[in-house]
Amino acid sequence: MILVVLDHDTTRLRKGALEAVSRARQLAALGAIAGLVVGENTSAVAEEARKYVPTVYTAEVGGYTPERWAAAAYAAAQKSGAQVVVAPSSRQSRTWTARLALKMGAALLEDTLETATDGSKITATRYSFLNRVTEKQAASLPVVFTAKPNTTPVAEPQGDGMIEALTVEQPAAQVEVLERMSEQKKGVSLSEATVVVTGGRGLGSPEAFAGVEALANSLGGAVGATRAVVDAGWRPYGEQVGQTGKTVQPSAYIALAVSGAVQHQAGMNKSKYIVAVNKDAEAPIFKVADYGIVGDVHQVLPAMLEAAKKLKD
Ligand SMILES: Cc1cc2nc3c(=O)[nH]c(=O)nc-3n(C[C@H](O)[C@H](O)[C@H](O)COP(=O)(O)OP(=O)(O)OC[C@H]3O[C@@H](n4cnc5c(N)ncnc54)[C@H](O)[C@@H]3O)c2cc1C
Repeated sequence: MILVVLDHDTTRLRKGALEAVSRARQLAALGAIAGLVVGENTSAVAEEARKYVPTVYTAEVGGYTPERWAAAAYAAAQKSGAQVVVAPSSRQSRTWTARLALKMGAALLEDTLETATDGSKITATRYSFLNRVTEKQAASLPVVFTAKPNTTPVAEPQGDGMIEALTVEQPAAQVEVLERMSEQKKGVSLSEATVVVTGGRGLGSPEAFAGVEALANSLGGAVGATRAVVDAGWRPYGEQVGQTGKTVQPSAYIALAVSGAVQHQAGMNKSKYIVAVNKDAEAPIFKVADYGIVGDVHQVLPAMLEAAKKLKD
């Protein structure tokens, strides 16, 4: 039995949850799949979830704390007899999967790119050393693993599963959340976007990001930023791509006036196609770019916008 912890935003399943279901389906040798919807408004989300997994457990435990998520996942694993638990990789899952692995006495494989099983162990590949090395790991069951976003196609619906509510004893929180400020963001989420348009310090001002936003909108993508831009207060931290920001793997990554420092590359160098615009032909970003334009971003970006508009029309 495999348990998938289904990430959601209290109204719908996130893309990462459907990718995690695909990962579980790839491990069919381990038996049936169950899903867990944990948090708030779980019964509404479970209605969507039951289209993807034959059994959906719900655990209405309130807002996020690592202890609650770990306790709910442990209760669902016990109930279903799951030897393997899978969840999408995220900053949040990093905090509760370790607790869950400890409770289950399980191995923890984080940020996996691919996973397979022979029935007794899980083998997984993952990046290490700022994405420069791919390593293969193996762990005997029980195993908790997280699936890196955009590495697996999303699952297709497969019938109508049953829903069962779990009663989970509320563990004492070791950390108390005093305030939660959610990012006011319209449009596509950066981690899920298939096109990311990132602006760097070379744009010269926060106002110049209007062009970055326009290009991202016309391509149906999301805006990213370098740390230099975020540190300058031009863009919010939620848009930062790189070692200390988000890791993205879109089909197209467009880097505008970004130098391509190694810490930035760590968050984007696995994108399918990388396009870079920089006035310096020696900029490191060109080493990872599939298409490079050496030129002034203030001239190239309007031309790209024009081309994107024509494409859309
Ligand atoms: C521990 C650590 C963690 C870090 N984590 C991150 C991270 O998560 N993400 C991240 O991005 N960085 C990170 N950094 C910082 C990183 O090292 C770089 O400083 C940063 O990525 C540089 O941002 P930038 O490319 O916007 O700016 P710059 O390095 O200043 O590059 C600007 C580029 O714009 C070009 N340019 C200037 N004017 C124009 C123009 N008119 N037209 C075209 N091109 C132009 C320049 O040629 C230059 O290449 C980290 C650093 C450390 C030490």
